[in-house]
Amino acid sequence: MEIVSLSAVEIREKILKKELTCLQVVQAFVEQIKKYEKYNAVLEVFDDCFENAKKMDEKIANGFDGKLAGVPIIIKDNILYDGKICSCSSKFLKDFVAPYNATVIDKILSEGAIILGRANMDEFAMGSSTENSAFGVTHNPLDFDCVPGGSSGGSACAVALNMCPISLGTETGGSVRQPASYCGIYGLKPTYGRISRYGIVAFASSLDQVGIFSRTVEDNALMLEVIAGSDENDSTSSNEKVDNYLDFQDVKNLVVGIPQEIVEMSKGMPCQNNYQQFINLLKNIGITVKTISLKDISLCLPTYYILAPAEATSNLARFDGVKYTSRNQEAKTLQEIYKKSRSEGFGKEVKRRIMLGNYVLSAGSYEAYYKKAKAVQGKIISEFEDAFEMCDLIVMPTTIGEAFKIGSKPTNPIDTYKEDIFTVSANIAGVPSLSIPFGKGEHGLPLGIQIISKKFEEKKIYSFAKMMSKVVE
Ligand code: GLN
Repeated sequence: MEIVSLSAVEIREKILKKELTCLQVVQAFVEQIKKYEKYNAVLEVFDDCFENAKKMDEKIANGFDGKLAGVPIIIKDNILYDGKICSCSSKFLKDFVAPYNATVIDKILSEGAIILGRANMDEFAMGSSTENSAFGVTHNPLDFDCVPGGSSGGSACAVALNMCPISLGTETGGSVRQPASYCGIYGLKPTYGRISRYGIVAFASSLDQVGIFSRTVEDNALMLEVIAGSDENDSTSSNEKVDNYLDFQDVKNLVVGIPQEIVEMSKGMPCQNNYQQFINLLKNIGITVKTISLKDISLCLPTYYILAPAEATSNLARFDGVKYTSRNQEAKTLQEIYKKSRSEGFGKEVKRRIMLGNYVLSAGSYEAYYKKAKAVQGKIISEFEDAFEMCDLIVMPTTIGEAFKIGSKPTNPIDTYKEDIFTVSANIAGVPSLSIPFGKGEHGLPLGIQIISKKFEEKKIYSFAKMMSKVVE
């Protein structure tokens, strides 16, 4: 088997058994990145990855056997890696060098990972297609004319094209699960608080989480085991014990909930048949399937597009042409520095979100929008809690259909916002969700199904996904 097709678990095993060296592994993956350069998934390959591989070989020769020993990883370009550029795919931050490591970076490095490079994304993680990147669109790994999804499109494409076995992305409203679905791989959005957000460039802090892409369930579970856990640098990180996610449980007796509102919503959508087939498959293999209700789930999308821009507005205020970012050279007064630098630094979608956010927070609109959205969020959280009294897991489509053509949604932003219709509820409720590859659309591109559980039950999700991967094989 070619090195680049190996999973992270296999790579580590072969390296520890001395069948491969880290250097060989890194060379093979960097070659693969070059081979598929035209997909524009990776913005930069880090020069020091070969040096780091050599150092790791020495460490391993001296007995080191970390959980990611010698495993090459690609990171989304909004995760700080000390000394490396972290641009968030924005012109504004194109030269910004990370001054320290995100906690997830420290964690993967201490387990022996080698970070190969940074992946393209929608600017500041706002978007669903990677078309909002200041550095060009990433292409779908299975159809060059289509988008890979977004905002973590580069990270998803990189895993699907074997540029690395695991990559890191981030989620605020679906940015890991949707591209995972479009690229035919696994994508996890963990429970809010499961993974530290320290060193992740904030979009909407109450929703943001690091997410994981992989081609196998095991690799995904392995990565979560490494990066989950509390962190004194992130007060929203949870003290909840980190499970041994690779120790899959027997899940045949679990009850799977099908929300009737989602069945209704999906009627007439390209995902409808595939969703039905998944439900039928569950029944055929003897899983108990139960109809449940998430009464207000259709309110999640408008709620998200109030809360996320509101938080983005305040998080992005720090990018002002004075700190971090590039400054307009003609500006003379402080006001002009702010105005001109922000006008030329931010892309169109980011500006739209900032305006939306300021609007919903402004006097007169705050009560009508922001406050109401927070109240709806409270309701959604309790509807999920009630639903999980009736079932162990909830399944629903990840996306409306398969990947769409590049440039096909240029005019109306609402068309793109609708992409998030099935994903945002997990973010609003703070619960974990894994998109698994299942089925194909009418153009032969992959579709995904998401498996959702109560907070901190990622182990149940992985166990279920593992069982389903054997059934589908
Ligand atoms: N597509 C959503 C948005 O544009 C989700 C983004 C994300 O999860 N980062 O806001």
